[in-house]
Amino acid sequence: MKTKLATLSLSLLVAIFAACTSQNPSTVSSQQPDTTATGTPDRHTATSPPPTLTSTKPATPAVDDQQDTPTPELLTVKLTQYDLSATLNYPRHHLAVDEQIAYTNQSGEPISDLLLIIEPARYPGVFQLNSLSWSDGQPILDYTRDLGLLRIPLVEPLPPGEELGISLSYDLNLPSPSPSYYGRPVPFGYSSRQTNLVDWYPFIPPYVPGEGWVAHRAGPFGEHLVYEVADFEVKIQLSDSNPNLVIAACAPAEIANDVYRYQFKGARNFSWSVSDQYILSTTTVASVAVLSYYFPVNTVAGEAVLQTTAEALELYNDLFGPYPRKTLTVVEADFLDGMEYDGLYFLSKGFYNLYSGGPADYLTAIAAHETAHQWWYSAIGNDQALEPWLDEALSTYSERLFYENLHPQGLDWWWTYRIYYYEPRGWVDGSIYNPEGYRAYRDAVYLNGALFLEDLRNLIGDKPFFEFLYAYSQGYYRRIASGDDFFALLEDYSQTDISPLLDKYFQMR
Ligand SMILES: [Zn+2]
Repeated sequence: MKTKLATLSLSLLVAIFAACTSQNPSTVSSQQPDTTATGTPDRHTATSPPPTLTSTKPATPAVDDQQDTPTPELLTVKLTQYDLSATLNYPRHHLAVDEQIAYTNQSGEPISDLLLIIEPARYPGVFQLNSLSWSDGQPILDYTRDLGLLRIPLVEPLPPGEELGISLSYDLNLPSPSPSYYGRPVPFGYSSRQTNLVDWYPFIPPYVPGEGWVAHRAGPFGEHLVYEVADFEVKIQLSDSNPNLVIAACAPAEIANDVYRYQFKGARNFSWSVSDQYILSTTTVASVAVLSYYFPVNTVAGEAVLQTTAEALELYNDLFGPYPRKTLTVVEADFLDGMEYDGLYFLSKGFYNLYSGGPADYLTAIAAHETAHQWWYSAIGNDQALEPWLDEALSTYSERLFYENLHPQGLDWWWTYRIYYYEPRGWVDGSIYNPEGYRAYRDAVYLNGALFLEDLRNLIGDKPFFEFLYAYSQGYYRRIASGDDFFALLEDYSQTDISPLLDKYFQMR
């Protein structure tokens, strides 16, 4: 009973706060190294041997520079192209950026203005625009700015399939946000030992015919951005001569003359992190290099994260379809919770510090969750603000699949402490703007969402369920799926009447 109470207390500790992962470890200034963990979770049902682990002081990730897997289909027009050239002054927390955007109207209807989302501009004093011009060099003077939005009216509407180029130059004086228990996790900015660059450049959101730009306001919790896939060419230079600085990025680098060059094709975004303290462990699974960057005090947990990510990637490859990239990067973060980006995810130091060894641990569950976002968020996009269940319920349920298939001895723990402990309820199809607060949002979207998927699987049967999941993943690859898309495709795989489940879990269906 004592053990159980201790576990419950821990669960309470980690349950209260906000994020992508719906779990938040107790992280405030907790720096104790974990000396009890073994970092070698068992693997019961996998058919291939565990990945080989190597631990090194990071230099350049040893991965090839091949292009990502080409798009198989779907997108008939050229993707929007972002060319970013950034110089980071690490000790001064300053980034200077030149950016060219070659925007292609993929919406199917003429567009009468251009909208840039500038997330850094939501932070006071962070974003300084130096110049804005058309691709021919003509300055753009007729624009309006409102916090994180910049709108440029077009003299003539941009027809479908046509391209338009703009150039920007700007400086970022990076913020150093304090961890907050009451708001969304903030990966953007610097701490004493790392700088995280996420949503750091102006980008153009999806445009929905008849509705316009998909640009939602930030909420107090949850994620609000929606991304159209694009091609990224990124050049990074470090102005500081510190030889220990390491860049952890969402794609492999080519380095020449101290310039780091990246190509990231068909991606939702481009994210990176820099530190002079990272340890890097790598492994390869299914031709994908998995890279785990962590701080020296968390070696055991850093290796466990690598192992979990590699195992989950291999499993989800089978269940949802091939992971389309050459690398997947995990970065230990000085902010709360976990947060997914395309080709990279952050995981809070709190999970590392609290890691107890073995799979029945939040570090493992959340690493499996964040890895699943490479499908439910990156490969298959959705409106994170209005239909967050499409990525969060599916990623939470993917944790269940991870335990079920690879670590069944942890499955009871997962159901008990990840799901049932919170007595989840609420409409699965709620938005991030839940007026009842984070806990109600998390319980409904993540946890009740996972229960819905479990009930759905039990109702229609394993075979149709997994065939549908695979088809959904492949059918909406690099697109943005909606709840309507989800249920319309489901009808192709099961004729079972699911209306009792819809009545139970969904407000709008
Ligand atoms: Zn999540």
